[in-house]
Amino acid sequence: MLAVLRKIVQEVNAAKDLGSALSIIVQRVRAAMQSQVCSVYLLDPDTNRFVLMATEGLNKKSIGRVSMAPNEGLVGLVGTREEPLNLEDAASHPRFRYFAETGEERYASFLGAPIIHHRRVMGVLVVQQKERRQFDEGEEAFLVTMSAQLAGVIAHAEATGTIRGLDRQGRGIQEARFVGIPGSPGVGVGKAVVVLPPADLEVVPDKTVTDIDAELQLFRSALEGVRADMKALSKRLSTQLRKEEQALFDVYLMMLDDAALGNEVTTIIKSGQWAQGALRQVVMEHVQRFELMDDAYLRERAADVRDLGRRLLAYLQQAHQACLIYPENTILVSEELSPAMLGEVPEGRLVGLISVLGSGNSHVAILARAMGVPTVMGAVDLPYSKVDGIDLIVDGYHGEIFTNPSPTLIKQYGDVVEEERQLTQGLDALRSLPCETLDGHRMPLWVNTGLMADVARAQQRGAEGVGLYRTEVPFMVNERFPSEKEQLSIYREQLAAFHPAPVTMRTLDVGGDKALSYFPIKEDNPFLGWRGIRVTLDHPEIFLVQTRAMLKASEGLNNLRIMLPMISGVHEVEESQHLLHRAWCEVRDEGVDIPMPPVGVMVEVPSAVYQARDLARQVDFISVGSNDLTQYLLAVDRNNPRVADLYDYFHPAVLQALQQVVDGAHAEGVPVSICGEMAGDPAAAVLLMGMGFDTLSMNATNLPKVKWLLRQVTLEKARELVQQMRQIDNPQVIHSALHLALRNLGLGRVINPAASVQS
Ligand code: PEP
Ligand code: MG
Repeated sequence: MLAVLRKIVQEVNAAKDLGSALSIIVQRVRAAMQSQVCSVYLLDPDTNRFVLMATEGLNKKSIGRVSMAPNEGLVGLVGTREEPLNLEDAASHPRFRYFAETGEERYASFLGAPIIHHRRVMGVLVVQQKERRQFDEGEEAFLVTMSAQLAGVIAHAEATGTIRGLDRQGRGIQEARFVGIPGSPGVGVGKAVVVLPPADLEVVPDKTVTDIDAELQLFRSALEGVRADMKALSKRLSTQLRKEEQALFDVYLMMLDDAALGNEVTTIIKSGQWAQGALRQVVMEHVQRFELMDDAYLRERAADVRDLGRRLLAYLQQAHQACLIYPENTILVSEELSPAMLGEVPEGRLVGLISVLGSGNSHVAILARAMGVPTVMGAVDLPYSKVDGIDLIVDGYHGEIFTNPSPTLIKQYGDVVEEERQLTQGLDALRSLPCETLDGHRMPLWVNTGLMADVARAQQRGAEGVGLYRTEVPFMVNERFPSEKEQLSIYREQLAAFHPAPVTMRTLDVGGDKALSYFPIKEDNPFLGWRGIRVTLDHPEIFLVQTRAMLKASEGLNNLRIMLPMISGVHEVEESQHLLHRAWCEVRDEGVDIPMPPVGVMVEVPSAVYQARDLARQVDFISVGSNDLTQYLLAVDRNNPRVADLYDYFHPAVLQALQQVVDGAHAEGVPVSICGEMAGDPAAAVLLMGMGFDTLSMNATNLPKVKWLLRQVTLEKARELVQQMRQIDNPQVIHSALHLALRNLGLGRVINPAASVQS
């Protein structure tokens, strides 16, 4: 059963559009279940009716014509009850409704299963048979499993279908809306530039080109490149391989020949297809043909063709990347955005980002917020590879994307962009004013940094210190561990730029979703695995080199603070302090005269919340990492779009934990700050101040908004709001109540400037 299921899902996945996906489903399921009829009814959201979309066994002319309301017929019953229905004699059921045009009177028994995707009923999958007998348990289980597996595929095909009519260039797409997760606030109106994953043939889209000669030339160069690589490889391995094995390389070279693959690709390019699309067509065709062969040896050849295809594609992509022109208003779209991709776009041209994978708390989203680029993450239904070059709107407030927006929508969102520009300009005036509430409470606002560009941005916005310098960022953009000397110079630059303001440097925090290409960590459960301090305590040499570099960099400046990430118990603090002390002694032995800097820990693991007081006794400061703390308290992966709506720092449990940390630290007379993204959310910042946090550290982009808001309230009001929110047990209600309270105070303007477009 599993093998059949898998095969059907695979086939449906490969279908080119919704129509073909549905017809594969009905054909294959009917055959697998040996029933006489299989049909799919999909719920049309506009009319709220289940429409017959595909059938094998009923009259095909009734497709698209027969439909029923949720309170009609057996299909309506399955859809509304969201449960399977298994009937020996359908006609005798009180909800049976007869549709003459389908010819279903011939079939006695009925088995229907709802198709549900993310809690939404999308349709009903039905099998029918002539014989009057109830389907057995195994058959029922098969249909239910089938329909659960197909739900996601159908949802995706449906979403892709909303941009149907797209030609090879993506033109002709009607306006369509795709929902993802808010990644970085703001609105971007621009043109899509798609970055495809390297050497993945399956996602290469079709595209028409006018300069056919240029494409042919690109392809010829790619062929030459791969031929040369093959020859070099064959030579390198010549001493280790037997003659027959060596001959494989000749087969590869033959396949590349003008008379073989090369020729087929060239013919397609000549029809106006770009080289990458032509290559995909030819290679996938051959792969499929080989895979279906009975002979095991020939089946294996599919892997060779695929490998060759990938190699050629890598060359073509390289050439494409080199001549890629980023328009003035680039919206970068990718399956999985990486910091390096953002770096490729020339300064000033990036107005939006879209990532199919990842969530609002993925590190690339944090980076986007620091750069102030509107971003939508987790756009799982967007057929991203097909949108290159088309107009897009990215609404980073609501996590929405519009493809080929109408002039009216462009105008509406254009107004929001302008409004935001004016708001930012207005807030610039706050730069040199203190963050002081109406009743005279001073709330220091610090920034989080990582990129060098953050320094200038932070200074422009009037940051009073650095609450989190993510040292892993310079490690991530390197190809090996930076040496002590290299680190020293990077850290010195940070410390000097902000001097005399304090700079909190976090020791290396890799693992989880932060990978170093040169230090791969492969784990089933990376967020619960070898992360942060766990890695550096296991590798004291990395820790020592890094902290020595930090200490040396602070010579004469003395504005360094050192912070330890992912602390889950006091033993880790003791071990770290032991190493820190050692580094300090070594550095002093080398003649560098520096005092021991303040040392703090991050509270981002639930155990640290309960031990806040114990930890506070051992350190000079505490800083809450609310991004990880939220993920660990709620058991919600911060990167997973599927559970993103469960990730919420307004969850009462998170708010209680934060209060507990503040109280624990203060009971030991230790200052406590927060450096997670929550601190940069203006509404949340009011609550954090009310809870008693001594410092808020956030991305520089949001700092002016937070400052503006805190200057308009009193500490007393903030404390009152904390008390009010503590009475509420539901995160969504806390959101609404808090936003409403701030709006009622006339302070809504920094919360969501795009609200008007949506209403
Ligand atoms: C956090 O977890 O809140 C934090 C600031 O660290 P990072 O986002 O880098 O994991
Ligand atoms: Mg963290």
